[in-house]
Amino acid sequence: MSRKILVTGAAGFLGSHLCDALLSNGDTVVGVDNLSTGNLANLSHLSHESCFRLIELDICKPFDTGKVDYIFNFASPASPIDYSRLGVETLLVGSAGTINTLDLARKYGAGYLHASTSECYGDPEVHPQVETYWGNVNPVGPRSVYDEAKRFSEAAVTAYHRYYGVDTHLVRIFNTYGPRLQASDGRVISNLMVQALRGEPLTIYGDGSQTRSFCYVSDLIEGILLLSRSGEHLPVNIGNPVEWTILECAQEILAVTGSRAEILFRDLPQDDPTRRRPDITRARTLLNWEPKVTLRQGLERSLEYFKACVA
Ligand code: NAD
Ligand code: UDP
Repeated sequence: MSRKILVTGAAGFLGSHLCDALLSNGDTVVGVDNLSTGNLANLSHLSHESCFRLIELDICKPFDTGKVDYIFNFASPASPIDYSRLGVETLLVGSAGTINTLDLARKYGAGYLHASTSECYGDPEVHPQVETYWGNVNPVGPRSVYDEAKRFSEAAVTAYHRYYGVDTHLVRIFNTYGPRLQASDGRVISNLMVQALRGEPLTIYGDGSQTRSFCYVSDLIEGILLLSRSGEHLPVNIGNPVEWTILECAQEILAVTGSRAEILFRDLPQDDPTRRRPDITRARTLLNWEPKVTLRQGLERSLEYFKACVA
């Protein structure tokens, strides 16, 4: 039987891919979004899809879309540029927004999955990051509006499970990329792809020795759907465990785009995590999941999208 699913942040990068995956599984999807960082173009291919509708609203104010069977809570600014610009909005969506969606799940007896983040680990002192690590977050630093909002959300989701028995799931997402990643949101893959395709210098912050682990969007969505159907209520890392320095990532981007753009070193932002790599033992064991797409393959699959962005 077709389920009715609510996806918050549906017009965003990940939310729109999630809507596609749910619809192709036969679900009916109600997307909500306030379009603060999302883009209607991410959903334009669904304009004639009878099982999908988008409602423009801010989840920080109580709302009710009617009975739903499952809620995926993906609404939040996500890139450092976006959450710095929308600092208080980011705190509100991670607090009031999360509580409002949890209240809906409680009211309708719906399952619930929250998009948390590797940023909960802050600048980690444990490497690779295991879910049992509590993190190293500066509560008053420039990234705190995002990190602490996400940490509050995790506490709220856990409380609704513990006190009210809501069937909750928490995914800690590590840096994910692919088509529909906003070209101008300042994240490293979008910045460097756009710069390489324009033949402009690639901006590397610091000396480029800091690391990230990049997951292609189809791998991430597959892991999230498996988690949503599991009986696991504790956080689960979903990400690609292959770790790259930012300089190595820039070299991959130059190779994939065939660009000869030079590299320009700029100041490292304050509190920029020095390394990040998920330990995915839990996802492997609990969900039988692991990523399949290499960084080279994922960048190749994203090339046409970024070419269209710079055209
Ligand atoms: P995105 O900015 O593309 O999408 C977020 C969407 O949420 C946007 O469409 C935006 O308009 C919407 N939104 C923001 N505030 C809202 C509000 N108050 N009410 C309704 N809609 C609102 O970002 P994304 O990369 O797709 O991230 C989606 C989720 O996944 C976020 O919660 C983010 O924190 C999380 N996440 C993403 C990554 C990643 O690498 N992309 C990593 C970790 C966690
Ligand atoms: N970064 C960079 N050049 C850019 C954008 C980002 O060197 O044009 C660096 C950034 O300082 C960080 C890493 O790339 O060390 C990943 O940044 P992103 O904003 O993509 O994600 P996050 O820091 O949230 O993991």
